[in-house]
Amino acid sequence: MPHPGTGTRTTETHCPYCSLQCGVTMTAGDRPATLVPADFPTNRGGLCSKGWSAPELLDHPERLTRPLVRADPADRTSPLVESTWDVALDRVVAAITRTQREHGRDAVGCFGGGGLTNEQAYQFGKFARVALRTSAIDYNGRFCMSSAAGAAIRAFGLDRGMPFPLADIAEADVVVLVGSNPADTMPPAMQYFDAGRERGAEHVVIDPRRTSTARNASLHVQPLPGTDLALANGLLHIALAEGLVDEAYVAERTTGFADVRAGVAGYWPDRVERLTGVPVEQQRRIVLALARARRAIVLTARGAEQHRSGTDTAQAWINLALALGLPGRAGSGWATVTGQGNGQGGREHGQKADQLPGYRKITDPAARAHVAGVWGVDPDDLPGPGRSAFELLDALGTEGGVRTLLVLASNVAVSAPDARRVVSRLRDLDFLAVSDFFLSETAELADVVLPSAMWAEEEGTMTNLEGRVIRRRKAMDPPTGVRDDLQLLAELAGRLGVTGFSGDAETVFTELGRASAGGTADYSGITYRRLDDEQGLFWPVPSADHPGTPRLFTERFATPDGRARFWRVEHVDAHEQPDAEYPYVLTTGRVLAQYQSGTQTRRSRSLQLIAPTPRAELHPDLARSLGVGPDDVVELATRRGRARFHALVTDAVRPDVVFAPFHWGGGSSANALTDPALDPTSRMPAFKVCAVAVSRVGGP
Ligand code: SF4
Repeated sequence: MPHPGTGTRTTETHCPYCSLQCGVTMTAGDRPATLVPADFPTNRGGLCSKGWSAPELLDHPERLTRPLVRADPADRTSPLVESTWDVALDRVVAAITRTQREHGRDAVGCFGGGGLTNEQAYQFGKFARVALRTSAIDYNGRFCMSSAAGAAIRAFGLDRGMPFPLADIAEADVVVLVGSNPADTMPPAMQYFDAGRERGAEHVVIDPRRTSTARNASLHVQPLPGTDLALANGLLHIALAEGLVDEAYVAERTTGFADVRAGVAGYWPDRVERLTGVPVEQQRRIVLALARARRAIVLTARGAEQHRSGTDTAQAWINLALALGLPGRAGSGWATVTGQGNGQGGREHGQKADQLPGYRKITDPAARAHVAGVWGVDPDDLPGPGRSAFELLDALGTEGGVRTLLVLASNVAVSAPDARRVVSRLRDLDFLAVSDFFLSETAELADVVLPSAMWAEEEGTMTNLEGRVIRRRKAMDPPTGVRDDLQLLAELAGRLGVTGFSGDAETVFTELGRASAGGTADYSGITYRRLDDEQGLFWPVPSADHPGTPRLFTERFATPDGRARFWRVEHVDAHEQPDAEYPYVLTTGRVLAQYQSGTQTRRSRSLQLIAPTPRAELHPDLARSLGVGPDDVVELATRRGRARFHALVTDAVRPDVVFAPFHWGGGSSANALTDPALDPTSRMPAFKVCAVAVSRVGGP
């Protein structure tokens, strides 16, 4: 809305960061842009420090506004120098053409991100399959949501992270959070938890750290990282032993319980206490609370899911929820708390190695025929599934691997596990092109860096943690020389001689809707006009007169027989166990004032004041035994590398566990330490557990 005489206008849009996608009102024009929180259904006027600080970066002095290319294109170590779009795109197209001619189509790869809009994610998947005809595409959501998604599809036939509105949390009598810390990751969401607690609801937090969320809970239990599956199986064992299973629900709405019943028989409470460290009486308290509640919700997040057994761990919590009759019951259920801003939409529209738009399997002949029809290509010309994110990165530059890579909205040099190995693979490439706002650690390694538009400068849609599709609206023009990734992909496709790619977000969204029609994530009844009028719509929305679907599974699940599937799962020890050389357990996670790989938030002046340095958390007993004092510099060492942090000595962590935040690169890269052992189903790396040694290397 323009403000006559002032040169400014206000625009309703959303914070660029996490999956809560808080509504904001931006004022932009002849002064630096500002924002205030909006009364949107998710944040209801709330905003966290990350959201407040977001406008700072729009005119940040380090913002990229011109393409960068290597001074000597034949020398990847020559300096990056400013250039023109023509020169930069010529080099990208020449590299693609040369690589595919010499090494085949799959030698060119694409790597996307959960921060891309739905339109960008869709166009990136189409670009890979139609313009490049490569199977080599995956994205950083593989490191984020893939385990929960795999379990949800297996159990319910469909993955919408939260199959009910966020506001249901305020109405629940019991909420169990497993490896989830919304008080730090998405503070405005706490209003729903707070409202529940004020009504007397019981909240249980299961987390090796006493996080801000745990401090406010009725009960906090601190299992050893990597044992959540055993705990969930143990709780189901108790539910069976005490006759708390909802047998009628199990009989009517599920299949496969007999096998799970047999599977959990061996998870005796005292054995589970030995495995997890959670006392028997706490186990019983959690089960009784869940079983007796009128409305009960189980939420899992990355703490439970980023493991070699992440899919099975999420499944174990789903098994428990199903046995207690929660999914599909009013105000109850299981959900996963999505992390990235478009973590949900990012996995629905075809930038995943194994999927096509509409959240369809790329191996499904009917899905291939439908999507190929929308794209105007022969289904037989569509590539098959490609490698998962870490496997794609780990094969860079090798025989049979990708040799030319295009990266959008992802900083894998910081966010991938075993990050130094990934950096070395990136150096092995013949050619790397990166589109980003800033010179990220990944962009620093590129042959060509393309400056991309930021959130307030582009149109599009995002899908939040509830599956609510919302509008990202353009509040201002990008700086001269900066392009939206949609335009970039359309331009690249054109230069490769391929038609059918638009740089206009609404045009792409309309096509995305057609491509998704009939899939589980069906957007075909959504238009920009409807999103404007209705404050977003929950998918599926299969027709123009469909009201959207805030609550899933009320009548049937999305499986062929309409029943949810139990799936027997067993505890396996983490890939790495502490030993004499690496005697402690390292777990990683986020802090309040940073986001993901920190490409943006580490450049924010106001956020730097809150979280200026990466700090590793050590229990006082451990610190004492190692001679570490507050703020001393400690070195963490694993089988993959070393990294240094200032010590935060706190009894919030278990004495046998060290916590490190993963937002930093360089000498404080937590992911230089993490274990890339992969979940066999989701291909999720084991970010949350590895064996570590700790030593003091300096004073404060
Ligand atoms: Fe809201 Fe998340 Fe942005 Fe914070 S980071 S303002 S919780 S969308």
